Amino acid sequence: MPTPEVISLGNMLVEVMRVQLDEPLDRPGTFVGPFPSGDTPIYVDTVARLGRSAGFIGVVGRDDFGRCLLDRFARDGVDATRVRVSPEHSTGVAFVAYFRDGSRRFLYHWRHAAAGQLSPEDVDPAYLRGTRWLHLTGCNLAICESSRQACYRAMEMLPPEARLSFDPNIRPEVLSADEIRALCAPVLTRADVFLPSAGEGKLFTGAATDEEGCRQLARQGKIVVLKEGARGSRVFTAAEELHIPAFPVTEVDPTGAGDSFCAAFTVALLEGMPLAEAGRFANAVGALAVTVKGPMEGAPTRAQVEAFLARHAAP
Ligand code: ATP
Ligand code: MG
Repeated sequence: MPTPEVISLGNMLVEVMRVQLDEPLDRPGTFVGPFPSGDTPIYVDTVARLGRSAGFIGVVGRDDFGRCLLDRFARDGVDATRVRVSPEHSTGVAFVAYFRDGSRRFLYHWRHAAAGQLSPEDVDPAYLRGTRWLHLTGCNLAICESSRQACYRAMEMLPPEARLSFDPNIRPEVLSADEIRALCAPVLTRADVFLPSAGEGKLFTGAATDEEGCRQLARQGKIVVLKEGARGSRVFTAAEELHIPAFPVTEVDPTGAGDSFCAAFTVALLEGMPLAEAGRFANAVGALAVTVKGPMEGAPTRAQVEAFLARHAAP
């Protein structure tokens, strides 16, 4: 099998979530799941659903949760030949509770699970040699040393002409701002496309506002895309700044929208779409992603995005 056009790596998790709002995780209640999840698995799965070849480097346990993830990759055509099945570890799990004020609480079993076993030896240089795009996230730089080194190695193996996208996707509760900046600095330096969320434009630059931080990074020649949830997204380059309004949808589950958005933006740039069109395409994919419960259940196929865009075409 030829190397996929788009490769990512990181934690493979299933998500098990509360059925009702306002059910904390420290008492009995009802859950639904498992749903395949993990920020970079959602990303590659969306890339594949949108019609580009995608492959993943990660670790699952030899158990039903691992099967749940591998079955999803098989269904959507993600190359899983570089996913290792560890007989000694259980597949990573995230438990999620949702609250009426829109907040979410996550409880992770990943560092000591299969997800935390990803290491530089899992990164085969031959696999990366022919790829066009690598996507990394800060979350996988923060989870543990071996996962971080795997991400750095993948970046070092990337051909110079291939592009790197970087989504911080990092919860500041876990690490200090200085630690986050230090871990991410090598990746941010190499990144061609930087995809922060609210707060991360400031965090990574020390600028007074996200906008100013995004502009600073854009002046270095990067394409910077600030994801703003129900407000849409903003694209910054050295030459221009675009605000791309969100599509009106009813949000059912916000988890995974950012990862699907990054996937769509990648596909759009690989296909040479102009930035305004790429932003609109990615906003449509993010909007569709939030309309379905489950982190990657709402990731649309190419046909679904095109039908959605046609319905929302300007008159
Ligand atoms: P996360 O907190 O999961 O990391 P994120 O900050 O990476 O999320 P969001 O900004 O929440 O990503 O979502 C990505 C994109 O999806 C948005 O820029 C927007 O285009 C679309 N989107 C998200 N939520 C909504 C919504 N409620 N309505 C319409 N579009 C949405
Ligand atoms: Mg995100």
